[in-house]
Amino acid sequence: MLIREYASHPNVMRKEDPTWKFALGASPVTEGSILRIVDEAGNEGFGYASATPHMGAIPATLEAELAYFKPHVLGRDGDHIEAIGAALDRAMRGAPQAKAAIDCALHELLAKRLGVPLCQLFGGKMRDSLPILRILAIKTPDEMASQARKLVDQGYRYLKIKVHGEVDLDVARVRAIRKMVGDDVHLTIDANQSYTTKNAIIAISRMADYNIDLVEQPVPADDFEGLALVTRTVPVKVEADEAAGSLSEIYQLVTKRAVDAVSLKIPKLGGLRNTIAAARLCEQAGVAYRMGAAVGSRLLSAHALHLACALPGVNYACELGEFARLLDDPFSGIEIENGELRLTQGAGSGVTWNGRPA
Ligand SMILES: [Mg+2]
Repeated sequence: MLIREYASHPNVMRKEDPTWKFALGASPVTEGSILRIVDEAGNEGFGYASATPHMGAIPATLEAELAYFKPHVLGRDGDHIEAIGAALDRAMRGAPQAKAAIDCALHELLAKRLGVPLCQLFGGKMRDSLPILRILAIKTPDEMASQARKLVDQGYRYLKIKVHGEVDLDVARVRAIRKMVGDDVHLTIDANQSYTTKNAIIAISRMADYNIDLVEQPVPADDFEGLALVTRTVPVKVEADEAAGSLSEIYQLVTKRAVDAVSLKIPKLGGLRNTIAAARLCEQAGVAYRMGAAVGSRLLSAHALHLACALPGVNYACELGEFARLLDDPFSGIEIENGELRLTQGAGSGVTWNGRPA
């Protein structure tokens, strides 16, 4: 079935809390592009391209990349996902976020044409719902603790504490949050590369007193040896995120056992097929994995949800609920209930575009 339309739509979503901040930046909006492709029978597929500067993409580069890839998709048979992916890789090195949007849109188009839920293309569902972890932005310890309380009152049982490379203050953040939420809530840490190796070891060793499940990207993405040393030293599971920016980086991390876990994200890995490949690498190496933060439209979370529900090794909460703190989403169809997302039943990813011109 030939692809007859290919159009990208820049997307800006306001944050409910315009002061939302993490170690790598602060912005009152989340930006990306919505890619829409249509085949000759009128089936539609959508993909979300994430403009994430710390993963190498900004809105202008995304739009340019999506335009550059258009001739490699338009007029092709939409069933030939692997061949189109290979053509994109030949056409341009890198550009994982734009390639991810195309890969997601092609999978959704095929699922719609076949009349099956997206997860069926990945081997079918292993589970019907997924616990969701919500992220606490960097603020004072008291402010973060009160935000944690609000989320727990909404039904969440997994929280991630953003920290900033300031050992005493970060430990105070963890202490305040643990005190506020009690012992039954799972806590993780994300330093977004903000510690030196030595300070990471000091900080995480102290945070371990407050029962932390996992600490994400404690040291800079390029510091492979530092990450491996932290992993070997601290009594908490260490997860790579920014250091796991491509399949080849994940291959290096897991074969050398530099981390205990890997955060998989469809945009940084270039799509669903690469994310599945990354999961298989982790499985073979005995390294844990889960779906990391999908920040953007429900469209992005819906694709990640269908994949997470089909992957056998996902056994920890995934970060697919950040759409709940964003406004102006052009897609609807999934909502978090009691801290979980339920897999949708209909054909495709289960979300509907409300941005169609009148
Ligand atoms: Mg992270």
